[in-house]
Amino acid sequence: MPLHRGDVAKDGASDRRTRRVNPFYGEANPVSGMTEAPPTHRLPDAPLAPSTAYQLVHDELMLDGNARLNLATFVTTWMEPQADVLLSECRDKNMIDKDEYPQTAELERRCVAMLADLWHAPDPGTVVGCSTTGSSEACMLAGMALKRRWARRNPDRYPAKDVRPNLVMGVNVQVCWDKFCTFWEVESRQVPMEGDRFHLDPGAAAELCDENTIGVVGIMGSTFDGSYEPVGELCAALDRLQERTGLDVPVHVDGASGAMIAPFLDEDLVWDFRLPRVVSINTSGHKYGLVYPGVGWALWRSTAELPDDLVFRVNYLGGEMPTFALNFSRPGAQVVAQYYTFLRLGREGFRAVQQTTRDVARGLADRIGSMGDFRLLTRGDELPVFAFTTAPDVTAYDVFDVSRRLREHGWLVPAYTFPANREDLSVLRVVCRNGFSSDLAELLLEDLGRLLPELRRQPHPLIRDREAATGFHH
Ligand SMILES: *Cc1c(COP(=O)(O)O)cnc(C)c1O
Repeated sequence: MPLHRGDVAKDGASDRRTRRVNPFYGEANPVSGMTEAPPTHRLPDAPLAPSTAYQLVHDELMLDGNARLNLATFVTTWMEPQADVLLSECRDKNMIDKDEYPQTAELERRCVAMLADLWHAPDPGTVVGCSTTGSSEACMLAGMALKRRWARRNPDRYPAKDVRPNLVMGVNVQVCWDKFCTFWEVESRQVPMEGDRFHLDPGAAAELCDENTIGVVGIMGSTFDGSYEPVGELCAALDRLQERTGLDVPVHVDGASGAMIAPFLDEDLVWDFRLPRVVSINTSGHKYGLVYPGVGWALWRSTAELPDDLVFRVNYLGGEMPTFALNFSRPGAQVVAQYYTFLRLGREGFRAVQQTTRDVARGLADRIGSMGDFRLLTRGDELPVFAFTTAPDVTAYDVFDVSRRLREHGWLVPAYTFPANREDLSVLRVVCRNGFSSDLAELLLEDLGRLLPELRRQPHPLIRDREAATGFHH
């Protein structure tokens, strides 16, 4: 959540100005004939008729954007009507209440088993996993397991004042890993970008490891440019480190997006539990798992990787189901929707859907690359995501101008600056999702083509306040 402040002054001002409400909406109260809008920053004194309340909220939400034109987010914006029905049938189900809703719990268990199979767990019988609210929670859980296992291996050294556990990762990690390190007091050791390498370098990552390293994070695929990190080479570098020094450093794969792409489109790429060093994997069910926001998954290779003292068993809802989660109560509907999506598509269906999305991304990247004004950093052939910047000879405008002008046409294409050591590089990023059809891609290209002549005529880049101009959406 953004950290909101109660804006009392604004509330007072808007309450003093009497705002009229559409007389039609007040019809539900013929006696008092509601004419004044209720306050919006404190609880109204009296109830409203449901129809009036509905209209007021509904009208205000018209200002939200059109999600299908949003090329910034990775998160699902379209599901089938049948999924909508299941979601509404299950919206009262609480995921934690495994005794009241044993069948929802069973569907969760089956999803874990399906993912274990998809990610080549060597022994499905010992895999453990759970649903979460998204990859962020899944990464917190995986990070905690790494930290606890490291602490268990070093009982004589930790906790101690001068010993601080660390986690090694590329500077391109999603913000959830910075959160993990801050919240759980772990030092974040980040491999910077160099030249045209925009993600983790395996050798550099191994060099950052020492006896206090709880693990290394490999990302399938980077939010900055959609590229897969070389998880296989990372494991090989850590194997060599172990031969040299005896340090045995586990790997967690953050597969928020790619763990639901690579198994279908890059079957020969070895990044998952086939690598013995990979101890845990997360994904966002609500990204390329094709479910509306609110579901993620975390899996551990075996029960040995998940210290038992992190698992809680409560009896006050009946039953004694072991759980590993940050939340207690949480909607169960998304888990049901995930199971529906798995059943509905199967491997072939997932392959077809993801391939279509990748084809759209690659086609769009090619066309943008051949316009002459832009240089592609990635081509949409790993995640269906690509990043591009302006060609070296373009001086009249920059990526921030392009982002702002596209927004005038309804398209949300974020522009942002890269982190260390490529702060000099600013890019635009397009995330293709199921539902972003080649027709829509064509419309985007037409709009971009129409804008370019105007942009080229600018005297210089126009957006001064770059922070305000655009938002970077992970
Ligand atoms: C989106 C993303 C996350 C966070 O996932 P949520 O499901 O939004 O919490 C973490 N890591 C990577 C690589 C991501 O792309």
